[in-house]
Formats: sequence, structure tokens, C-alpha cells
Amino acid sequence: MYDYLVVGAGLFGATFARQAMDAGKSVLVIDKRSHVGGNVYTEKQEGINVHVYGAHIFHTNNTKVWEYVNKFASFNRFTNSPVANYEGELYSLPFNMYTFNKMWGVVTPEEAEAKIAEQKAAAGITEPRNLEEQAISLVGVDIYEKLIKGYTEKQWGRPCTELPSFIIKRLPVRFTFDNNYFNALYQGIPIGGYTKMVENMLAGIDVKLNVDYLENKEKWNGMAKKVLYTGAIDAYFDYSLSPLQYRSVRFENEVLDKPNFQGNAAVNYTSSKVPYTRIIEHKWFEFGKDEEGNELPKTIITKEYSSEWQVGDEPYYPVNDEANGELLAKYKKLAESEDNIIFGGRLGEYKYYDMDQVIARALEVAAEVI
Ligand code: UDP
Repeated sequence: MYDYLVVGAGLFGATFARQAMDAGKSVLVIDKRSHVGGNVYTEKQEGINVHVYGAHIFHTNNTKVWEYVNKFASFNRFTNSPVANYEGELYSLPFNMYTFNKMWGVVTPEEAEAKIAEQKAAAGITEPRNLEEQAISLVGVDIYEKLIKGYTEKQWGRPCTELPSFIIKRLPVRFTFDNNYFNALYQGIPIGGYTKMVENMLAGIDVKLNVDYLENKEKWNGMAKKVLYTGAIDAYFDYSLSPLQYRSVRFENEVLDKPNFQGNAAVNYTSSKVPYTRIIEHKWFEFGKDEEGNELPKTIITKEYSSEWQVGDEPYYPVNDEANGELLAKYKKLAESEDNIIFGGRLGEYKYYDMDQVIARALEVAAEVI
């Protein structure tokens, strides 16, 4: 009999398990995959740490979270500055003075602000009601058309007029020449990969892989006094109220016999004419070198194709719109009536969390319950 059963060895589960263990509790972590790490899992191929379930760049303003993760890994100085490719035209991201200069030829922040104000006024938007209106009021019609509309509609499979505006507010708009994608005080990639970091978090904790909790909930629940579940909340209830909507991603990997494919970790393809949303070139998360500092002769790229999730696929992004919000509220009611089960994480809470938010929330939950 364990004090805690933790279902899912991703960041939420690993953080909670570590806290429980450090508080002197006994913990069993289980995961249906053959490895720990959840979607931050990285795997070494050709000397390159490949982000198998999509690129993850750790960034946070939360000093407590930063200090916490640094107990388990050292971070390199990687700063995310993706490039947008719109039908062969390259633009800097996030939207900043380089973007505005390339788009309109403007040189000063004042000129850029005036251009955006002019386009916003022409569109007649006062109170943005959806992602399209929010985007136009932030950066104007030209940037919306070339850098946002196509990407967002591929990514979410829905028209921008039907998407919540908070999604676009994830991206900064700056009237400076700062290409850092995130407004974060701390940023980097764990040296040696995320998998090593999560393994360090789970050091000394019992972990069972390749086991599916949902196939035999009763058996697993019987092994612990309390359960932390980080899988999908609707899957837990066997989709009894109908499934929530998610976006899934298909990753197409290629090993290329050349040292440099695109010169950057992330290039976003923002036109609707290209079927994938972005290409990740993994070696640039670690400056193109292995841990000994040697240049790597090959490169690995991943094309990301976004698709609507169906039961059986891997869920990646919750679709946090109104209809799903209402359904989630009903699942949450069910969750509250479950004895001794805590729901946590991007899937357990159906929330578009970043990694640091997941860790912050797991630390909070751990402090409350342990
Ligand atoms: N986005 C965009 N163009 C880009 C990059 C992002 O329009 O080149 C929008 C898109 O709607 C996306 C959102 O901004 O879903 C958030 O992007 P972020 O990079 O945070 O997405 P993630 O890395 O979580 O997939």
C-alpha cells in the first residue's frame, strides 16, 4: 500500500511525486508509455536530443519554479526566436520592429504604432470578440493575414473568428528590436535533455512503465491511499458526457545528411498553402553541438501537422472555447465527487498550460494535500 499513486510521469506527476517523496510519503508512479517525461520526453538520435512530442522551450518568470527545476538540471542559454516563412518571405517573431520594418518599411516605433492604429481603425474594431479581431487590433490586418490567419487556422482547424482571443495573447507584440519569443526572465533547455531532468526528479521513486491505468482503475486505486491522475479528464470518465475536443499533432521526422537545414530551431510556415505548421530543427536547441562541444555532421528535422483529435489519438492541445468550457465544467463536477482522486496537468485540468505553470500548479497542489 502506497501513500500516493501518481498516474502519468510527465511534469505534473513528476513534480508531485518528488514533493510527496521528500515529505516522507511512499509513492508509485505509473505511465502507459514506455518512458517517463510525458510530452517533454527527449530521445538522443545522431547525437541530437530530439523533442519527440513537440518542441519544448522552458521559460518562466516564476523564480520559485526556476530554482526548483534547476535542482534537477542545468539549463543552457537557448532563447527562442522563431522565424516565420510566408510563401518565401521571412519575418522575425514575435511581432517586433524587425517584423514591422519588413512588412511596411517603417523604421521607428512611432511609425509602426501609427500603421497598426490606422489598420485597426479601418477594420472598425473597438472591443475584440474573437481571435481575428484581437489579432487585428494588436498588429493590424497585414500581419494578421500573412503571419497569423493561415498558421492559426491550420493549428486549430477552426476559423479565427471562432477561436478565443487569449490564444493570440500568448505572443508578445513589441516596439523594440527584441526577437525573444517569450517575455520571460528565465529561459533555456535542460542540458542533456528533458528526459534526464525528469529521471532526476523521479530518483528513488518506484516507477512502472507500459501500464494502462484506465484499463484497470480499481486494481491500481487499491494500491494507494490517494491517487493523482494526470491523464485526460474525459478519458477518466470513459467519455460518458461525450469527449472534449483536442488538437493532435503528427510529427514527420527526417534525418538529413547535412549539418544545417534551416539555421534556426523553429521556422513557422504561416501560409495556408503549406500543410504543416512548422519545422523544428532540433540541434539548434543546443547550438548544433553535442555535450562535448563537437559540431554534429547531420541534422534532424520535424514537420508538424496539426489535426483534429479522435478517441485513440494523442491529445496535445485542449480547445479552450466556450462549448468545451461548458462540458469541462460538467466533468469537473464528476471529478469532485470522486473520492481520493486529484486531477492535474494539461490533460487532467484541460488547460493550455506551459511547462512552468504545470510545475507551479503541481507544487501548489502538493503543498495543499501532502
Ligand atoms: N501564432 C501565429 N503565427 C505564428 C505563431 C503563432 O498566428 O507564427 C498563433 C497561433 O494562433 C498559435 C498561437 O499564436 O496557436 C500561440 O502560439 P505558441 O507559439 O504559443 O503555440 P505553441 O508553441 O504552444 O504551439
